[in-house]
Amino acid sequence: MQEKTQVNKIIYLDAAATYQKSDAVIQKMADFLHNDYANAGRGVCERAVKVDDMIAQARRDVAKFIGATDRQVVFVNGTTDAMNMIAQMLKQKNVRTVAVSDLDHHSARLPVENIGAMVVVCPLDDKYNIDVENIPNADVLLITAMSNVIGVPQDVRAIISNAKKQNPDVITVVDAAQYVVHNQIDVTEWGCDFLCWSGHKIGADTGVGVMFIKNPDDFNPVEFGGGMVLRVDENSSVWNTAPDKFEAGTLPLTQIIGLPVAIDALKKNRPDHNLIKYMYAELSKIDGVRIITQPDAAMVSFVVDGMHALDFGALVGVRGLCVRVGNMCASWICKKLGIDGCVRISIGGYNTMADAQAAIQIIKDVIK
Ligand code: PMP
Repeated sequence: MQEKTQVNKIIYLDAAATYQKSDAVIQKMADFLHNDYANAGRGVCERAVKVDDMIAQARRDVAKFIGATDRQVVFVNGTTDAMNMIAQMLKQKNVRTVAVSDLDHHSARLPVENIGAMVVVCPLDDKYNIDVENIPNADVLLITAMSNVIGVPQDVRAIISNAKKQNPDVITVVDAAQYVVHNQIDVTEWGCDFLCWSGHKIGADTGVGVMFIKNPDDFNPVEFGGGMVLRVDENSSVWNTAPDKFEAGTLPLTQIIGLPVAIDALKKNRPDHNLIKYMYAELSKIDGVRIITQPDAAMVSFVVDGMHALDFGALVGVRGLCVRVGNMCASWICKKLGIDGCVRISIGGYNTMADAQAAIQIIKDVIK
């Protein structure tokens, strides 16, 4: 990756939007496409059986990575897909109240806000973290484990344990799309009912994501099609057992097969937060830059006085620096911060101090 950025003269500091892919992931997917490609769960020929085994292994690897069992791991297209499915499952349960927070991404909150339940908002503390001591009583609690603007891991275990003191039956849903990049997840320790993340944010390809369901037998499928049904009778159908009943249609096979390779790479080489600390320190010396994240956050977000974030993004962009600008699909936290949008720098395990230094130089050139 480093070699690639230098050859292309691009400093890519936008891992939180999507992570660059390692050669190992690309190679694994190419090998599969060249040598082993067939559909899964559909055939009995040697190739099809081998693909079944590969998918089953990938599921075991993912389950191990988050502390789940493989029956609890459903392959989806991504966090957005998972959150929409979860919302439909909650609708089937006729939930009456859903607690959300202003840290939520549109992908997480909009689906649960649109199932006809009453929405209550968890208060945030003065550092914009979910106020662990003031979790509202609700049927469902949506927890964004790390905001894609603020970049701070939330104390998910304490939040869930306090929510259960209010309502022992609360259904907890964790959006781990950003958290998974920076911290180890243990769904068993957290005790959450649902958790999801997207493969592309950890270095796998787009089109694959993970939805963890603690009690898959308690929920019905919300998508229907091939592979999820055991028997079709005249007037009714019998679903397969989990996880198959949640996986209608052909899976994103190539992406699933690349996923364990991305997980391995991530575990060995998490993003180096020293780069963020360095950029935070350097940005705080620049007049006109107002940083909105904490120094120890996993990303650094800021606004530039007198300059629209989109203009700033374009100006650094033509100089070869890729960062995310705008409202980050997280309007609620932007509103809370009193901003329309911001600039966000985020890193992958492939970024180096040289990237961070080059980025700061480009930013200084733009804000003269
Ligand atoms: N939640 C969070 C916290 C995110 O950062 C993102 C992606 N920006 C999503 C959900 C949605 O992920 P995807 O677009 O991969 O479905």
